[in-house]
Amino acid sequence: MPTALDKEEILPKNNPWQQALGQLQGVAQKINLEPWIYDRLAHCKRSVTVSMPVRMDDGSIQTFEGYRVQHNLDRGPAKGGLRFHHEVTLDEVKALAFWMTIKCAVVNIPYGGAKGGIVCDPKKLSRGEMERLTRKFASEISFLIGPDKDIPAPDVNTDPQIMAWIMDTYSMNIGYTVPGVVTGKPINIGGSEGRREATGRGVAVATFEALKTLGRDIKGSRVVIQGFGNVGSNAARTFIQMGAEVIAVSDWKGGLYDKNGLDIDDLRLYKKDGRSIADYPRAEHLSNAQLLECPCDVLVPCALQGQITKDNAQSIKAEVIVEGANGPTTPEADRLLRERGVLVVPDILANAGGVTVSYFEWVQDLQAFFWNADDVNRKLTDIMTRAFAEVYAISRREQVDLRLAAYILAIERISKALLVRGIYP
Ligand code: NAD
Repeated sequence: MPTALDKEEILPKNNPWQQALGQLQGVAQKINLEPWIYDRLAHCKRSVTVSMPVRMDDGSIQTFEGYRVQHNLDRGPAKGGLRFHHEVTLDEVKALAFWMTIKCAVVNIPYGGAKGGIVCDPKKLSRGEMERLTRKFASEISFLIGPDKDIPAPDVNTDPQIMAWIMDTYSMNIGYTVPGVVTGKPINIGGSEGRREATGRGVAVATFEALKTLGRDIKGSRVVIQGFGNVGSNAARTFIQMGAEVIAVSDWKGGLYDKNGLDIDDLRLYKKDGRSIADYPRAEHLSNAQLLECPCDVLVPCALQGQITKDNAQSIKAEVIVEGANGPTTPEADRLLRERGVLVVPDILANAGGVTVSYFEWVQDLQAFFWNADDVNRKLTDIMTRAFAEVYAISRREQVDLRLAAYILAIERISKALLVRGIYP
């Protein structure tokens, strides 16, 4: 009998919205969710598709399509990133918005979930084209976004500069400066200290707590990290500060291994010049496939979705997997790992540090009063630690894995908000 979240066999594999609905169905069965609440969560509150003619550098006009989806607003304004990718679809954006609703509820920050996407290949756009496209999109969705309504943030292929253009366009249209309309902005226009490092730092805090439940100390633990971008490299740095040894890391090109622990600061410096860490000369080299199967205590996937599959799940030697990336473990692999007793800390908990510090950024913008990095990091650690403890308690009480426990916690929180607010009119 498949458990609640094992829907891979019965749902189309390549439709993320179907996958999200499958997860919702599974949790609904487990907690006897009222049918009208299930229906509410099985529908997105608003899905907007816009078409955007943009003047290209060569004088031609190209029309792009973009989406902004607000999945749920019952716990607060909608929150979620904006991705630029040539394969973005409305169903993908709907699923990502649903997962944002869940993630915000897991860490108990007062937001619903949203996501946005523009179908484009950013590698083929000049900086000027990118700016015109971003500003056009911001204008098209300006009726939908705002600090009390929906607050975009960076995601795949979008960065603080793109957030600055959105903030500026929105502010120009409304006639005054509104820093709280986006998060992940540059610090000099209302961004937060610690936002860039937040997801990786949160991943390390979740790992610390997971090891504690096994009676293990993070000091001296051997950690392997797939992906050395924003999340992976910042997680690596925090692991070292906590006394762990990061023995292997990788990027898209390949991996590095040192049984005595890699010099992460040196690697970050090496990468700064635009070089791939796979070319780093002062460590052994290994492939991404070998990296995932390396003997270690903790494996931290921080690259792409679908990296841990039924084909490699049996060969993974880590006792704990902490999902820095979104969706790195397929449902089938998840089941195999659970059967083997591997503790998996799910993405909706493990990588929630990013949206948590986005929340801090929004609070600081609304108050026009800014915190220092120590304040941000302390509050981030408090929220991640508390969320982990709450999810862990449910997993013990219900005898389920941490992923299902996190879904139960989130959907119970959203249901409570819905029940107390009632139906209008
Ligand atoms: P990034 O682009 O900064 O880094 C991605 C890293 O993965 C790069 O080092 C890249 O070389 C590597 N990579 C790509 N393909 C790979 C492959 N096949 N094998 C090994 N490594 C590969 O992205 P990021 O912001 O660090 O995001 C990583 C993951 O974390 C994504 O799944 C993202 O959705 C998720 N996430 C990010 C944040 C955030 O705040 N940045 C928050 C929550 C979740």
